[in-house]
Amino acid sequence: ARTLLEVNDLKKHFSLGGGLFGRSTRVLKAVDGLSFTVARGETLSLVGESGCGKSTVAKALMRLYAPTAGQVVLDGRRIDDLSAGALRPLRRHIQMVFQDPFSSLNPRMRVRAILAEPIRNFGLARNAADLEAKLASLMERVGLPREALGRFPHEFSGGQRQRIGIARALAAEPDLIICDEAVSALDVSVKAQIVNLLRDLQRELDLAMLFISHDLAIVEHMTHRVAVMYLGKIVEIGPRRDLFLAPKHPYTQALLSAVPIPEPGAGRTRIVLKGDVPSPINPPSGCRFHTRCPHAFDRCRTEVPGLDAVGTGHFAACHLNDAAAPARAA
Ligand code: SF4
Ligand code: MG
Repeated sequence: ARTLLEVNDLKKHFSLGGGLFGRSTRVLKAVDGLSFTVARGETLSLVGESGCGKSTVAKALMRLYAPTAGQVVLDGRRIDDLSAGALRPLRRHIQMVFQDPFSSLNPRMRVRAILAEPIRNFGLARNAADLEAKLASLMERVGLPREALGRFPHEFSGGQRQRIGIARALAAEPDLIICDEAVSALDVSVKAQIVNLLRDLQRELDLAMLFISHDLAIVEHMTHRVAVMYLGKIVEIGPRRDLFLAPKHPYTQALLSAVPIPEPGAGRTRIVLKGDVPSPINPPSGCRFHTRCPHAFDRCRTEVPGLDAVGTGHFAACHLNDAAAPARAA
């Protein structure tokens, strides 16, 4: 499939001001050299614990943050260095669904106005009748009755509000939708409905989707590929099946070991990691995961592992996958 989004060596560092004696500046490396692509009609999930930099990637792609370094190429055109004015007409192509459907919808606007705004802003309706038809079709797509156009956000449940948030993203007729923890705030029963809705929409509209989540159980139901992040870097990326059945990075293995398996008796052995995620201000040397990795050996503390091929389209950054690795730790 054709590449829609290409991210090359993306970095987003935040300067935290002077150190103890005002000499050194502390730098928080939230995203520290990320490269990935998303093809048209493909879902790529970005997973990892909170604080790994997932949301910063979304904000950098939406240009809510200017990237510190790297390139973002959308449909063959570089967008990371465009001025706000030059970027405006292109904003339509990337839309976002936020975690919190309560705060992301203007409480003083009726659903009709919320959905009509992007349609008008991007000049997507030819006339009033066309606008009306588009509004009706958006409501149908997300499974809400047309009468709901006249209501305010507070009149809906959390799941219905997230349907409105999805309709608003679709109203811009985007090529790519970024969902940042879009179902995390929802009740368990509603979560599955919204995940299914997103998956169906992705297929019907041939949308590309960047699905950001800490929840691998949800990701497994809807993604084509998965990228696992740890402390601002991708540690493993690959097709869903390969990554879920044969994860090659110890961090992915630990994350997956916590995912419940539906079949009885097929339980995985839970890998409990020691300690917390270290600070991205002063990340560990060598492999950033070495302070928590059950397999760490000498080389891990000094040498940064490259993201190397471990299968078809499957890459992992771990010295254990290197044929030249010294004796593996038990
Ligand atoms: Fe663990 Fe070393 Fe592999 Fe890092 S490089 S994940 S510390 S074994
Ligand atoms: Mg986040």
